[in-house]
Amino acid sequence: MAVEMRECKHCGIEFNCRSYAKKSVGGYINECVDCVEELGTETAVKYRGVVSGDGKMAAISIVKFESDADADAYVRSFNGGKGD
Ligand SMILES: [Zn+2]
Repeated sequence: MAVEMRECKHCGIEFNCRSYAKKSVGGYINECVDCVEELGTETAVKYRGVVSGDGKMAAISIVKFESDADADAYVRSFNGGKGD
C-alpha cells in the first residue's frame, strides 16, 4: 500500500494520507483521520457502489447515505443477502 505522509493542519501530527482509514473518512488531504471525525470537516455525501445480479445481468447501483456507518451497514446486509 502506498504511503504518503502529511502533517495535519489541525493537530500537527504526521499521518498517512493514502491509508484506508483516511480514504474512508474523507476530509481534506492535510487533515488527519481523527481531526476529520472530530471536527466533522468531511461534508461530501457518502456513496457506496454495490453490484446486483450476476454475469451479463450485473448492474451497479450507486447508493447515497447519510453516514459511513449507514453505508457500511447497507453493503454488509446487501452482500450477506446473496447467500454464497
Ligand atoms: Zn489532526
